[in-house]
Amino acid sequence: MALTDEGADRTGLTVPELDPSRVEEHALADWRKPAVLAEPLAMGRALWCIAFQVKSFLDDLAARWGGRPHAWCEEKAGDRGGVRAPRGANVVYLAPHPDDPESAAVTLRLLSRRGCAISEAVVCLSPAGVEDAFLSGRPGGGDGEPETVKARIRRDEQTRAAELFGLSAERLVFLGLDESGSLDRPAGVEAVFRYLAAAAPDVVVLPCGRDSNRTHVRVWEIFRGWAAGEAARSRRPVVGLYHEDPKTLSLRDDLFVCFGGETAEWKRGLLRAHASQQERNLRTLGAGFDERILGVNRAAAERAGRTAPEICRWAEAFEIEVFDTTERERPWHSKTN
Ligand SMILES: [Zn+2]
Repeated sequence: MALTDEGADRTGLTVPELDPSRVEEHALADWRKPAVLAEPLAMGRALWCIAFQVKSFLDDLAARWGGRPHAWCEEKAGDRGGVRAPRGANVVYLAPHPDDPESAAVTLRLLSRRGCAISEAVVCLSPAGVEDAFLSGRPGGGDGEPETVKARIRRDEQTRAAELFGLSAERLVFLGLDESGSLDRPAGVEAVFRYLAAAAPDVVVLPCGRDSNRTHVRVWEIFRGWAAGEAARSRRPVVGLYHEDPKTLSLRDDLFVCFGGETAEWKRGLLRAHASQQERNLRTLGAGFDERILGVNRAAAERAGRTAPEICRWAEAFEIEVFDTTERERPWHSKTN
């Protein structure tokens, strides 16, 4: 049964289709590609290494669960004591909207440099986030239905940001769901579930769902529903890393990923790839999208305080949730945590 996708119909986009078999096919193409998987012995060794490295991260986290918040920086991510960052894990950034992945870009780069495979899935294109004034200021801005043009702008901006990050094109997927209602319908939920099932992530990074933005709330709820089912079914832990956003209402500080000025400028470049959001923020809030996100990171660095390495002027803050049915004695099973 082909699923309907009102968002794609209205925007006229061809790529974000919601036929679940295609979503799976697309995601599988990403995840079954490594040449190492062609050889059973190498595959077994690779899977063992991945499992081992993710296990180290979980073992460290369990041993030091009461010692949160933890801190990583690009030079030191737990290898000289503390909670070791995972190596070789499958990491998915599950983005409610375009531009969300940039909020966790420093952490995604740190994980990528440790051999983790990074993929990004953008659930909604959110054309409403582009102002009419932005369209009229662009050459050819009036070509086509405004909704279609706006959706394309957001898609292009995310594609550009992913290029700047260094993500290969096939690792960026647009699920094309419509923000107005499709995340409440079974077909929408199923599309996200099928993507996650095919990607089989060890770690999923996304905005914390305690947020005034309804799409952030729904995507978080859908992820948590999938992760709980996956952990129970496959007996394989799944880690949720929930990051802060300007609209986050509350976040338990479990992990800070600290960075300095050079990395902040790199992150600013990714944020500015979202020119429609940069302009909208400048006009409505008097500060650019880049300053807004880096301001959140500056405030997090202040909270990091003594936890953080000496030079910590900016930090991405995360709450950690572990979906784990493999062991009974893990501290995250306790209701008091
Ligand atoms: Zn968002």
